[in-house]
Amino acid sequence: MRDDAGTPRVRLAALYVRAIERVGLTPIVIAPFDQPANGDADVANPAGDILDVVDGLVLTGGEDVDPAYYGAAPSPHLKTVSGARDATERALTRAAQARATPVLAICRGIQLLNVALGGTLIQDIPSERPAALDHDPPGDRATRTHPLQIDANTRIAQAMAGTQFDVNSVHHQAVDQVAADLHVTARAPDGIVEGVETPADSPWWVVGVQWHPEEFVDHDHAPDHGLFAAFADVVRATHRSSATMEAASAY
Ligand code: MN
Repeated sequence: MRDDAGTPRVRLAALYVRAIERVGLTPIVIAPFDQPANGDADVANPAGDILDVVDGLVLTGGEDVDPAYYGAAPSPHLKTVSGARDATERALTRAAQARATPVLAICRGIQLLNVALGGTLIQDIPSERPAALDHDPPGDRATRTHPLQIDANTRIAQAMAGTQFDVNSVHHQAVDQVAADLHVTARAPDGIVEGVETPADSPWWVVGVQWHPEEFVDHDHAPDHGLFAAFADVVRATHRSSATMEAASAY
C-alpha cells in the first residue's frame, strides 16, 4: 500500500504478473486485507478462503518486515514497513503451509516467508554486516552485481540448471536465523543468505530467493526463468492431483 499524492493505492510491479503469465499460470493479485482476531472461530478466515481457490502463492518484493514479528527492536536503519502487508502475507503463508500450497518467495518474500515460519532477519546489512558485499548498489535492477553459490541437488539448483550464477541485488535486509522448516541452499560469497527451500522429501514445495528473477522475464535464456517454470510445474501437478481426488470421491 503506497500513498499516491494523498490517495492510498495498492500497487504491484507488473513484472511479477508477466513472469507468472509467461509460464502459463493465471495470476491473481491479492490486496492486503484486515485480519480477524486470533482464535475467533466465528469470523471469516480470508487467508484460508483465498488459499482454498488458488494453486500456488507468490510472495513478492517490497517493504521491510516489521521486526516485532521476530521479537527484535527496530534498527535505526529500518525502512518503511507495512503492517497490512505483513499481517496478510503472514496469514497467507501459514494457510499455504497448512494446505501444502506451493510457495515462490522473492526478495521481501523470502524474508516474510522466513519470519512467518519462525526465523529472524538481518534488519540492515551495511550496519549489521559491515564486511558484506554491497547488496543494494545503485543502477538498473536487472544488472547482475554479485555472485551466488547454490548447493547441488536442491530445488533451486535444479530450477536454475546450475550452481553458480551472478544475480541482481536490491535489498538491505536478509535472512538471519533460518526457520526450522527451511534450509539455506544459496549464499553470496560474504555468507548472506540468497536462497532457502523446503527439503526435497517435503510434500510442501517452497523456494525463496533474495534476488529478483522477475526482472529477467524478457531476457532470452536467463537461467532465472527456471524458477518460475519449476513453480508452474508443481502448481500444475498440485492442481491435477486435487482434481483427481474430487473425481474419485464422486464414486
Ligand atoms: Mn544480494
